[in-house]
Amino acid sequence: MSAAAELAALDAAAPAPIEKAPLKALVPEILAGGRDPFAAPGDAGNLVGLSRAELAEALREAGERPESLRMRANQLFHWIYNRGAKSFAEMSSINKGLQARLAERYRIGRPEIARALKSFDGTSKWLLRFRDGEEAETVHIPEEDRGALCVSSQVGCTLACRFCHTGTQKLVRNLSAAEIVGQVLIARDGLGEWPAPDEGRLLTNIVMMGMGEPLYNYENVAKALKIVMDGEGISISKRRITLSTAGVVPMIERCGAELGVNLAVSLHAVTDELRDVIVPLNRKYPIAELLAACRRYPAANNARRITFEYVMLKGINDSPAEARELVRLLDGIPAKVNLIPFNPWPGAPYECSSPAAIRAFAQIVNDAGYSSPVRTPRGRDIMAACGQLKSDSQRKRKSARAATD
Ligand code: SF4
Repeated sequence: MSAAAELAALDAAAPAPIEKAPLKALVPEILAGGRDPFAAPGDAGNLVGLSRAELAEALREAGERPESLRMRANQLFHWIYNRGAKSFAEMSSINKGLQARLAERYRIGRPEIARALKSFDGTSKWLLRFRDGEEAETVHIPEEDRGALCVSSQVGCTLACRFCHTGTQKLVRNLSAAEIVGQVLIARDGLGEWPAPDEGRLLTNIVMMGMGEPLYNYENVAKALKIVMDGEGISISKRRITLSTAGVVPMIERCGAELGVNLAVSLHAVTDELRDVIVPLNRKYPIAELLAACRRYPAANNARRITFEYVMLKGINDSPAEARELVRLLDGIPAKVNLIPFNPWPGAPYECSSPAAIRAFAQIVNDAGYSSPVRTPRGRDIMAACGQLKSDSQRKRKSARAATD
């Protein structure tokens, strides 16, 4: 069946409550490596996001001698990703002549900070603007002995999960590896963590849970995460990186085999009937296929469990019977369940479950032997729900444009 026919068939089969079909997200050619209409734009001259081999090539083009390329590439990698250098002039181990030749051709480009907000609870949120004016969000959530950075993989998202504010924004494009790594650099700048400390870090974990579906932008995400994991640079181990997917089944196994990161799955419902509505990607990859892919996930074991995210929606998915069905579905998977009280946004179609309903749900899952923490809402005063800051910025820019017209 052609892609267009497949999409038409999916739409025809869609249950009535779905108002916004995730058409483009379902185009199979994107996954098959065909032309990607959402490809990130090129960023010629930016050294951020480049691997060591690419840095060596950049050095060769800057006239560096072949026998020094490897050593110089390691130095550049160290300065950019371990020391947080923003200019070649800071790179004291690189001679002035080469510094000047590099500066003629290249930049160490970070995204621009469009807005930076800090919550009373310590959560920091940055709205970042890229060279083409597109924006995405990054959030740092500190805890007592660690801190997680929630990183975006796309500008907007096609998957239109009904409870998610980002899902109301149309997908504009994928983020490049430079733009993904750039989010980590900005956070480290803001936290003052250069050079990358060995102990006592404020940024210890990465969660690919920001805007976008990372497995629809796999190549850039993989390239960025390999840089983030490298022990000579940002040095955050794969055991401290979690990639969250709405369930792009064909990419899950590859992700585990190539990156070995922790997996989180946005499950949110225990029947296909409901999940087709809440997470429309389910129409393409239903629950049974998704859980089968989880059972095969190479990087999962009892020490590194797969996290199943479950947003608590009042009267929609929060009954004791659904908790019991969740337990049944997870049988045999090294799993834990994150229960997420719904964080409402203006115009949201759902309400958050009551504390009693959340407690009862958690108890059933917990009694079955699965850890089931209830996520504490963070940063509510700075619109930390995914996508809210970007929408707010778009509204302000639109009204500013209207005022000047
Ligand atoms: S939950 Fe994730 S995959 Fe679903 S719409 Fe929001 S950003 Fe996209």
